[in-house]
Amino acid sequence: MPQPVATFSTLVIEQLAGGFTAIGINVPDHTQNVMNQRFFDELSQLFALLRQNPPRGLLIESRREGSFLAGADIHRIDSIWTQSPDQIMELCDKGRNLLGLFSSSSWPSVAIIDGVCLGGGLELALACDLRVATENQKTVLGMPEVKLGLIPGWGGTVRLPRLIGPGPAIELIASGESVTGDQARVLGLVDACVSSNSARASALQLLEKSIVTENFRKRRHDQQQPRILEKPEHDFLLATMGAVIAGRTKGNYPAPMAALEAVVQGSAKSMHDAASLESKTFAKLAKTSVAKQLVRVYRLSERNRKDGGLGELPKASSEDSVAVHRFNKPSVVGAGIMGAGITSRHLRSGFITNLVDIDANALQKSIPAILEEAAWDRYHQKTNHKKASELTGLLMSSTQLSAISESDIVVESVTERTDLKQRVLADIEAVVSSGTIICTNTSTNPIATLAAALSSPARFCGMHFFNPVRRMSLVEVIRGPDTSDSTVAAVVLHAKRLKKVPVVVRDSPGFLVNRVLTPYLHESVELLREGVDLESIDRVSRRFGMPLGPLELYDMVGLDTAFYAGLVMANAIGDRIDSSPVIPALVKAGWLGRKTGCGFYSYKSTGHDAKIASVNEKLETVIEPYRLPERQITDDEICDRLFLPMLLESLLVLDEGIVRDGCDIDLAVIHALGFPAFRGGVLAWGDSLGATEVVRRLDQFKYLGPRMIAPARLLAHAESGLPFAAAGERVPVQQKNV
Ligand code: NAD
Repeated sequence: MPQPVATFSTLVIEQLAGGFTAIGINVPDHTQNVMNQRFFDELSQLFALLRQNPPRGLLIESRREGSFLAGADIHRIDSIWTQSPDQIMELCDKGRNLLGLFSSSSWPSVAIIDGVCLGGGLELALACDLRVATENQKTVLGMPEVKLGLIPGWGGTVRLPRLIGPGPAIELIASGESVTGDQARVLGLVDACVSSNSARASALQLLEKSIVTENFRKRRHDQQQPRILEKPEHDFLLATMGAVIAGRTKGNYPAPMAALEAVVQGSAKSMHDAASLESKTFAKLAKTSVAKQLVRVYRLSERNRKDGGLGELPKASSEDSVAVHRFNKPSVVGAGIMGAGITSRHLRSGFITNLVDIDANALQKSIPAILEEAAWDRYHQKTNHKKASELTGLLMSSTQLSAISESDIVVESVTERTDLKQRVLADIEAVVSSGTIICTNTSTNPIATLAAALSSPARFCGMHFFNPVRRMSLVEVIRGPDTSDSTVAAVVLHAKRLKKVPVVVRDSPGFLVNRVLTPYLHESVELLREGVDLESIDRVSRRFGMPLGPLELYDMVGLDTAFYAGLVMANAIGDRIDSSPVIPALVKAGWLGRKTGCGFYSYKSTGHDAKIASVNEKLETVIEPYRLPERQITDDEICDRLFLPMLLESLLVLDEGIVRDGCDIDLAVIHALGFPAFRGGVLAWGDSLGATEVVRRLDQFKYLGPRMIAPARLLAHAESGLPFAAAGERVPVQQKNV
């Protein structure tokens, strides 16, 4: 066994037979290999050493299971907020030049990508002459910088298009999505994709061949050349990809379009000039508030990832971390819209899953859609049919509850009726073993009420998913009065294994998300009653960055569901926000939204995918009896009327200890409602205005009564000048009697 010849703290150097040198990456104190200052310093020292004693070829690999290099250490990004554009450009140039040593040395290099290879990690791999990826499920390659409002800054926009062509490069960079080892091979991003066990042998073979044929020199030469695009390709990329990006970003996220321009313009330039353009574009983006907010949201997600629901998780190596129960036999009861989505999510995460519905037709109808969704290929934006047929083997379906008797976790997602839910939950408890955790996906029923049907409520809690499950990643884990800590911790862990974002909340009407959503939805109907045009209300909301306007959202959720939820909320907060008479009137007219083909809008068909045909022409007749004095209201006022009440409700939620802190609220609205991440969440948006400005704006809406009165917490922030969204000490969510 060859021995290491030198050891740094992040790199291990090993001399191999045949004159090759291997560099093993193992960055301590992080769960993934990341590029921190120490890593860069040591890489630079390593090249100095290698120059003294040049190898025939260099192999770079990871010494950490499942992680090649996950990109720049996020803490490095903090340093850029305070730097000038010139300083940021210099930082980019320095990093790029260091990575460039891989392909400017006299020997060739090969990267073995076994595990996560993202951002700067992929830029390092691209700087090598050759790349071998593995078939390991953990192997993913991508450039997710746009998700932080940035673009790759260490040569990614320069090297990638020269390697795989500008079109695929733009797609990869502008979408921020990642690809598997095999997809990378098809794209030409790697030279081979092999099993982890044979990766070294394959890499050394490629290296040897490249030395013998001197092919690496030709590759280096080709990479240096501009890649002049023919006019039709140039125009196609700008027009078609530009339109796709504009559709995705709605003009709110500048990075993907900047990436497109950097790639298209950079392709026509020398490598040096393309690199300067990359640095300049990166520096410009780094000065935007969008990048700042997106980096903050990323940090909130990281904080969530490390949180076990009861506080920060112990380090992965600690004994304690294995104490949280991991479920292996999940079941879902109810195969409606939500049950189907929850089942798909389980299959996607590789769980053998039982699905039970009392209605054989509903069950049968749900299965093709469940499999299609579970096998959805995000990169190619289509179902992978081979995967779908493989997943068939993981899905067990039945109309009999006895089928779930072996389950260790059951998610109940039957029709939203208290008596029915109580009965189904009691039946579930009767068939499963005493250690099985039981969850409900209720949107409105208090957990305490449903728990009353169970003989051991300690193992029961809410596990509230959002619609559509495939797109909305939040899961509210709702503690009932008797829910045990171990139940909360186990359900939080399970949500994470489903690749969801769990936020622990207290049992309280509307929990967190529906509570802050209620004032926003309510206000949209009040605006209608004051004569504001329906489409203007939805347009203003979408322009703010919401995926749907509030009235479109009402139609998607269903007016009957909204009516029922409205009653629950009116009981709780009716002194400030009463339930609107328009919703029951629409329900009475049989206009339930998309599901009936008519609601605030008329639809081209019925069902949850139905498309809008026009505004419901008869809506006026329903609203007429409930008209309020007409007002001329500007778009800016509409915007404030919609979103300020959401902010105020969030402050009250904090007062009531429904969540642990404001950061959880920001994370929740982004992942459940699609609140624009570029605004950082509802509290961060409030901070962008400032508490004093919020108080001033509310003043003009005094005539609307208690719902627009500044609560004490807002006035305190206006007084102290402290932000709403700062991550302070987290107060664990304890169940209080409500
Ligand atoms: P749905 O009407 O689409 O589906 C409910 C399913 O439950 C039906 O297929 C029905 O046959 C089945 N069912 C009824 N009684 C049953 C029984 N005794 N045993 C087994 N199956 C039974 O409803 P949905 O929209 O999927 O909602 C399900 C749950 O999810 C509700 O609690 C709802 O509040 C909650 N939820 C809904 C949304 C949403 O937007 N639709 C969002 C979050 C949570």
